[in-house]
Order: sequence, then structure tokens, then C-alpha cells
Amino acid sequence: MNNDSAEELNKSQSDPAQEKAKSDSEWREELDPEQFHVLREKGTERAFTGKYWDLKDAGTYRCAACGEPLFSSDTKYDSGSGWPSFYQPADAASVKELADHSHGMIRTEVTCAKCDSHLGHVFPDGPPQTGLRYCVNSASLDFEKQEEGDAE
Ligand code: FE
Repeated sequence: MNNDSAEELNKSQSDPAQEKAKSDSEWREELDPEQFHVLREKGTERAFTGKYWDLKDAGTYRCAACGEPLFSSDTKYDSGSGWPSFYQPADAASVKELADHSHGMIRTEVTCAKCDSHLGHVFPDGPPQTGLRYCVNSASLDFEKQEEGDAE
């Protein structure tokens, strides 16, 4: 096994307590500066600048910090916002929702349940399936394309 695949394996099997205990300096080593700012300092990328807002490929969006599967392309839709938008998480337990009163707004922040990293916000103006819009930063996500011929 080479180092890359060992690292991937560690990522997918990492335990939540270990992820939540990571220090800023550990995260800085693992993440690029924009990912660190968004995931660990609750930053927001500029609209229409992220790598996934317009992506329509089939696959899974994982947490860019801990690798946990967070959203499926099946629930991604074009919200016109310039950020990747989903009407539901891959699993209700994979994200946490928290009241956020910063920047003079009342919003609901969405974080990764496994590592507590910031993902974005959820708004009550989504499509009919759920009425919710999970507005997520591309910088918080790692897209894993579905292999050709994979069963649904
Ligand atoms: Fe995470």
C-alpha cells in the first residue's frame, strides 16, 4: 500500500473524537488556506467562484476535512446562488444544524457532524422535495465521482 492510499484509508476510518480534538495547527497542515478559512474559521467563498457550484456529475460530496460522505449529487440542484445547493444531506445524522446570529442575520449554520467543520447554511427556500436549501461552500467539499457502471 502506498502512502496515499494509507492516508485515504485513515481518512475514511477516522474516529469522530479524534477529528474533533484536532488543533488549528493540525488542520492547517491538512487543509489548504481557503479550506482552512471556510471549514475552521466559518468563512464563505465568493459566489460563483467555487469548484462545484455548477458541477452536474453523479457522485458523492464528502467533507473536505474528514472525508465523511455529506451530500449526494441526486439531491443537488441549481439554486442560482453560485454555491453548491442540495435539498437534503446524504444522511440526517451526517450534518448538524446550529443557530447563527452573526453578521446581523438569523441563519442556521450547517456543520459536519463528525469533525464539526463549517459547511454553510440551510435556508427554508428550497425545492418542493423538502423545502430546504443546503447552501454549501465548494471549499468544504471533496467530490467523489461515481464510477461508470456503478449500481445506484
Ligand atoms: Fe468532517
